[in-house]
Amino acid sequence: MTPRAIAILNALIGVTLCQAGLVAAETAAVSRALAAQGESPTVATDVRIGGDDKQTRFVVDLNRKVDLAVFTLADPYRVVVDLPQTTFKFPAKAGEQGRGLVKAFRFGLIMQGGSRIVLDAKGPVRLDKAFVLDAAEGQPARLVLDLVATDRATFMRSLALGNRPAAQSASVKPSEPPPKPDGDARPLVVLDPGHGGIDNGTRGSGGELEKDVVLAFAQTLREKLESSGKFRVAMTRSEDVFIPLGERVRFARSRSAGLFISLHADALPRREGQAEGATVYTLSENASDAEAARLAETENKADVIAGVDLTSEPDDVANILVDLAQRETKTFSMQFARTIVDELKTAARLHKHPLKSAGFKVLLAPDVPSVLVELGYMSTKDDLKQLTSASWRAKTAQALAQAVDNFLTPRVASGGRRN
Ligand code: ZN
Repeated sequence: MTPRAIAILNALIGVTLCQAGLVAAETAAVSRALAAQGESPTVATDVRIGGDDKQTRFVVDLNRKVDLAVFTLADPYRVVVDLPQTTFKFPAKAGEQGRGLVKAFRFGLIMQGGSRIVLDAKGPVRLDKAFVLDAAEGQPARLVLDLVATDRATFMRSLALGNRPAAQSASVKPSEPPPKPDGDARPLVVLDPGHGGIDNGTRGSGGELEKDVVLAFAQTLREKLESSGKFRVAMTRSEDVFIPLGERVRFARSRSAGLFISLHADALPRREGQAEGATVYTLSENASDAEAARLAETENKADVIAGVDLTSEPDDVANILVDLAQRETKTFSMQFARTIVDELKTAARLHKHPLKSAGFKVLLAPDVPSVLVELGYMSTKDDLKQLTSASWRAKTAQALAQAVDNFLTPRVASGGRRN
């Protein structure tokens, strides 16, 4: 890898890391305020949107008054509301359809102690008012946001002026340093259950969520790998919490992982018909086909969904990296992907084209062989049945653990580079 490529890469990861830190700093400030108040958990019981394309009011009923942090983000236009950890008891399908200036919205945990609501705006908006009313006259406490349509120039100016509360612009400490080497020479396998927290991923017909399916699978795979005694295993998340994509990459790099396996479960929009089986993806600049391109685009939206600011992320840098820096790792990633397909054949259904590639941000580590496994389709009845079955999970995790063994063990034995 050239020094220039390394510098570019570090800049890229650094940018993403700052954003991850910022998310944490934002919600941490609110959570600290909550802890100081020593209050019971917040519950959001209902949500309403009123108004039109000029002016829109967004109201959330709460069990008590809370502190808020509200800010806007560009490209795509979003309004982000940070509040203390909140249990959302909204009606089913809340947020799928918006009204007026709000296209749709999402809500959920962004980190321990902090929740977030992200509104997708139809265009540039101005935050006219944001406040929380005390419960009064038989009405619950209410969070109220008033949005007014504006033009892009005004919107961008408000971003430049910094529309974030002071607590959020405080300097951000990098997240926890990587653990010190403990003398354990066994290769480290990093498992990356996709999505989490506010980002649910895809959804099955019975309300099953991708974030839960892939976390359960990762936990089973972890047990299989650890029980062999040959590998160390670390997970980018082991609970239902949001982790930005860049942070997942950094997690693996900073620990000198020997392999990175991102776990997902796809879904097709109904109009695109049905597909079935597992697919193994590697990183490439150009997608291997239209479906791979669509999938990478969807998976890369995780940060947008969670309300992370991407405006300063240099997209073209990713392309330079793919070109300059990743040839060797790419070869290893491809070999590992093929090994997985060989093993999965015996245990799980495979997609008719099980090996594909596209520009997944989570696979960007230039020095860690990385694959993204779509375990199946949440939108396909038979696949969903398997994805949520403990016996399928055990069998498939066993096959994947075998693939890890087949790939890593000969390389460790030959005394070659770990990755
Ligand atoms: Zn996914």
